Amino acid sequence: MPFDSLGLAPALVQAAAESGYAAPTAIQAAAIPAILQGRDVRGSAQTGSGKTAAFSLPLLQRLGAERAQGSRRVRALVLVPTRELAAQVGETMRSLAQHLPERLKIVVAFGGVSINPQMMGLRGGADIVVATPGRLLDLCDHNALKLDAVSTLVLDEADRLFDLGFAEELGRILALLPKQRQNLLFSATFPSAIQALADGMLRDPAVVDVQGEPGTEPNIVQRVIEVDAIRRTQLLRHLLKQHEGEWDRVLVFVATQHAAQTVAEKLYKNGIYAVPFHGDIAQGTRTDILSQFKQSRWDVVIATDLAARGIDIAQLPVVINYDLPRSPTDYIHRIGRTGRAGESGLAISFVSASTEAHFRLIEKRQGLSLPRERVEGFEPTEVAVPVVDASGTGGVKGKRPSKKDKLRAAAALAAARGETPEKNG
Ligand code: AMP
Repeated sequence: MPFDSLGLAPALVQAAAESGYAAPTAIQAAAIPAILQGRDVRGSAQTGSGKTAAFSLPLLQRLGAERAQGSRRVRALVLVPTRELAAQVGETMRSLAQHLPERLKIVVAFGGVSINPQMMGLRGGADIVVATPGRLLDLCDHNALKLDAVSTLVLDEADRLFDLGFAEELGRILALLPKQRQNLLFSATFPSAIQALADGMLRDPAVVDVQGEPGTEPNIVQRVIEVDAIRRTQLLRHLLKQHEGEWDRVLVFVATQHAAQTVAEKLYKNGIYAVPFHGDIAQGTRTDILSQFKQSRWDVVIATDLAARGIDIAQLPVVINYDLPRSPTDYIHRIGRTGRAGESGLAISFVSASTEAHFRLIEKRQGLSLPRERVEGFEPTEVAVPVVDASGTGGVKGKRPSKKDKLRAAAALAAARGETPEKNG
């Protein structure tokens, strides 16, 4: 099915073609006609399946057709959870809007950078604002924009915006919007509790769910490597060297900002172009790191879950879970950074004796059971601490081993082999 059969204006079809979109993706084919009809939409589709264009094209069509009268009033508001996603969505929208006869003003606003240029950018109004919630509210508090003429609200990565962390800000923003409006909610995942919240704000929505439809499954090979926690950096280094020239860009996920720093530093010292990426890094640097990564200036980015959602890096062949994500949902978002737009991708997770059970839960939620692999020279030696403490020194059946239990078990294991436990890799 070609784009022009969806009822889109020639200027938008041309821009889509110039962006390299030959035909609509499944989510686009299903959502665009419903949005053009003015309906509310709840759309779920795998990450990387073209959701941004699915809401942007019909939105641009409508706003482009309504001539702005006098000063521009914000008619569409797109809320996103991260600064990087705001920049990315704004960029996609501008490029899709470029041939429209009516010039639309699209303003992107996010925190972590000075508010003044964004306030200047909003002088004379805007047609579309793409923003993170906190900065949007700051701008409203400064009277830099009004939201009383918004006729379409888009929540991108909607499940994240309904999370506790954003709930209060989202509530304040919703109170500033007209009650009569079109609501478009998109996400790769809608956990059931979130779905109830989402449905509460939708009116007779078109529910577009293309998860798992043929042609929508990203082509991601998932692998699991068993390795002792303490040797993960060495294994990572080994894999990166082994696949040099083949893995152009690798995104590695860790659990903490500290881990991002230390792992990146260790790799860098070993001649690998690795850089940390997390929320404690200044926004300007974060933006530079991503754009340099996209231009292949960095081979490896070691990131926290900040980079797990929405970020689109074409030709990112490999994602590695150095630390496992907290939830099965986060796992889906993380591995969705690779295998985008029909490319193939590889997602590798490091699993140790102490994280094996957690990974099994992740597999179960996805209905998967992946083979466990070992890499020669990195075979694990850690064992899961037994639930019954045979030494009679305090372990209780059914309780998780304490840190002390684990240290004791590791020391006992090392002593049995006549070794001292290895220092951090
Ligand atoms: P998104 O899910 O919006 O982050 O999009 C993921 C990637 O798919 C981006 O790189 C888009 O440029 C690309 N894309 C979006 N729509 C299409 C399409 N119809 N055909 C090919 N690629 C597309």
